[in-house]
Order: sequence, then C-alpha cells, then structure tokens
Amino acid sequence: MTTNHTPMWKDLGLDIEAHDALLSVLGQAYGDIYLAQENRPEGMGYFDFVMSEVHGQRIQELVDAQAAGRKVIGCYCVFVPEEISLAAEAIQVGLCSGADFAMDEVEKYLPRNTCALIKSSLGFKLAKVCPYLECSDMVVGENTCDGKKKAYETLGTMADNLYVMDLPQVKSGEGRALLKAEFLRYKEAVEALTGNTIDAAALKKGIAIVNNKRKAMARLAALRHNPVLPISGLDALIANQVFFYDNPVRFTDAVNALCDELETRIAEKTSVIADGTPRILVSGCPMAVPNWKLPAVIEASGAVIVAEESCVGERGCRNLTDDSADDMDGLMDALVDRYLAIDCAIFTPNTERAGHIKELAEKSKADGVIQYTLNFCQPYAMEAIPLEKELEETGLPTLRIETDYSQEDMGQLKTRVEAFVELLK
Ligand code: SF4
Ligand code: SF4
Repeated sequence: MTTNHTPMWKDLGLDIEAHDALLSVLGQAYGDIYLAQENRPEGMGYFDFVMSEVHGQRIQELVDAQAAGRKVIGCYCVFVPEEISLAAEAIQVGLCSGADFAMDEVEKYLPRNTCALIKSSLGFKLAKVCPYLECSDMVVGENTCDGKKKAYETLGTMADNLYVMDLPQVKSGEGRALLKAEFLRYKEAVEALTGNTIDAAALKKGIAIVNNKRKAMARLAALRHNPVLPISGLDALIANQVFFYDNPVRFTDAVNALCDELETRIAEKTSVIADGTPRILVSGCPMAVPNWKLPAVIEASGAVIVAEESCVGERGCRNLTDDSADDMDGLMDALVDRYLAIDCAIFTPNTERAGHIKELAEKSKADGVIQYTLNFCQPYAMEAIPLEKELEETGLPTLRIETDYSQEDMGQLKTRVEAFVELLK
C-alpha cells in the first residue's frame, strides 16, 4: 500500500501543488529514461525504489530520526565531510538540484547568466519543493565558485540555518591550513547543533562508514571498466546520485549486492551493449537528480557511458581517508588530506585533473570524452579548452558540450552527440 506523505510535506512547509507538479515530472522522466531500458540488473530494483520514495519514505526516515533527537545537515558540495557529521550522529544529505523550477522568481534574485545548478537550488527554496532542504536543521553552503558563494548571501536572507564553510582556492600550505581550520570549525558547529562531542573513536566510526560507501562505489566503477559491460551508464549514474540521499550503510550494502550481481553478469558475458558500441567518458560539472539529460541523449545515440569524471561520480568518490591515527589531530589531518585531493575546477592551478581523466579513460577503455559544462560555469568551461587539447594530443577524441536543464537545445544536443558517436564508430 502506498503511504500518503502529504501531511508530512505540509508539516515541512512544502507548497503541495508545486511539489506534486515536480514529482509528476520526475516520475514521468524516470519511467521514460530509466524503466524503459532493457536488460537491467535486478539490483537496480533497490535504486528504483529509493527514487520512487526519494521525497517519501526517505524523508519520513529523516523526520523520524529528528523526533528521536538526531539532526539533519543538508549540503551542496562534496567538500562537506560526512565523516564529521556522522561522528556526531547527524545525518548528511545532498541538496543540489537538477531541474529548473520557479526560474522567473529565481531571476528576481540571481542574474540570468548563473549556472543552472545554482539557479535550480535557489528555485527549489523559493518554490518550497525540496523536503531535504526544508527538513535540514543546518544547511551548509561552501565557498567554492563565485556563483555559489554569492548565491549563499542571497540564500542566507531566506534560510536562518545557513552555515557557510570557507574553502581554499589554492593547494598551498596556507590553503591546507585554511581547510583544516574550516573542518575544525565545522566539527564545533556540528557538536553545537547535535549536543554530541566528537572524540577520536566516534570520528573513526564516521570515517569507516564513509570509506565503506566510497569503496563500494569504487568497486562499481571498476566493474564498468570491463569489456563485458554489465550496467548502463544511466543506471550507474542513479547509484552515484542516490549516494547523496540514502542511509549510508544501507546504500553500501545495496551497491555491494549490485556489484555481486554485476560480477556474475561479467562471468556469464551478459553485457548491456553490443560489441563495438562506443564507450564514452563524461567529464565536468556534477549531475544532480533529476539531471539525466545528456546521459540519456548519449545512450540513446548508440553509445554508452563507462565512467563519470564528476563530483557525482569518480571525483566525489575517489580516495579513502586514512584511519590509522588514534588521536583527533591525526584523523583531522587525514580528512584534510583526503578532501584536498579533490580536483575541482575551483582550484588554481588544477593540473592533476587532466592526469586523472587520462588515467580514467585508459582504465575504462573509453573511446572518447564528452566534456560536460553547465552554461555560465566559468571554472569548468575554462578548463575544458586546454583539457580538450591535452586529451586530443593523446589520441582521445573529445566533444565539448555546454548546456543547462532546459529542453530547448535538445535537437542541437542530439545532433552533436550523434555526430560524435558516429566519429567514434
Ligand atoms: S564541482 Fe567543485 S564546487 Fe561542485 S560539488 Fe564538486 S567540488 Fe563542489
Ligand atoms: S557548475 Fe560551475 S558555476 Fe555551477 S556551482 Fe558548479 S562550479 Fe559553480
């Protein structure tokens, strides 16, 4: 029996009519893009269920946890250390949004030429359609790109629980010291929010939970490197997106169960693609739920995505935290080292990213790279030009795509992707 979640959504202050409209679009798109795929692993049933209840059962779990005294922390960027949140028994969820909503209203607050991810996130706040945002006890905004840091000033006038985390832009000694100071400040803020003191044992436990989650995602990523491809790029993307919402331990178990099945599929040579299907690496801006536009176009054009060099993907999951230290300072240093290795385009210089893309392309046996940039995202758009040159010098064909969440450029997008896929055949 389906539960009626409307009373819970009303209690959270959602605009029920607008929220119903959002859920209906999301459900339709999921059916058209995901459920219509053939030969899916059975383990995707778990992720289909999570997606069908992403605003329902999961929110009920968060609300129940709050009633039992736990706190919910929403965040927009992979720089917020979930290990610290978990160490204080808080629950961390992602808030980035992948669909246009209330854009006319958003453009009263933000310039038109702001990236879709930022506009969408503010749109979800203005339209009151995101239960994760509305149930968060603390919302963390991270000073990454200029667009985000200025948008948080605006969001701060609408949300009285916004906590801004500063981040370095340069990976120098000073940059590292800033990140460590910010992680220590975050730890204190989380302790104040939850009333729980974080000691080394609690932090080790948080690190273990998140390391296990990342290990499971690394296992999934590695299985996609096999010539016998056991899962589509779209399905792998959903696992990467659910990473940000689900209970971390349950999610880890579901990903590992999926990987067990994918190993069997590989052994039995059950591939989701025909021999000779071009294998694509997608690199660039993160894709938040329900942003499935470009992956759907790529996989409908006769190619398959074998890896994502993205924060919703390899960049967000790569690297574990060393948990060998037994004291707080050592563990905090290990966290800083792990997060400072993220090669986001907000850093200058960000030279290690090109090496990571080449390495990932080689491991995943990609025939080509599609660089995905959201319109008006300067950090990724600027890196795309030298990256294209560097990748093509190594013999990897690349396509640069700049797009947003609208459907207006679908025709042009399909034409360009189809031409690129033809080139790779
Ligand atoms: S791309 Fe950069 S700013 Fe965006 S989530 Fe990743 S690390 Fe954060
Ligand atoms: S996509 Fe680009 S502009 Fe948008 S939030 Fe991320 S880094 Fe900033």
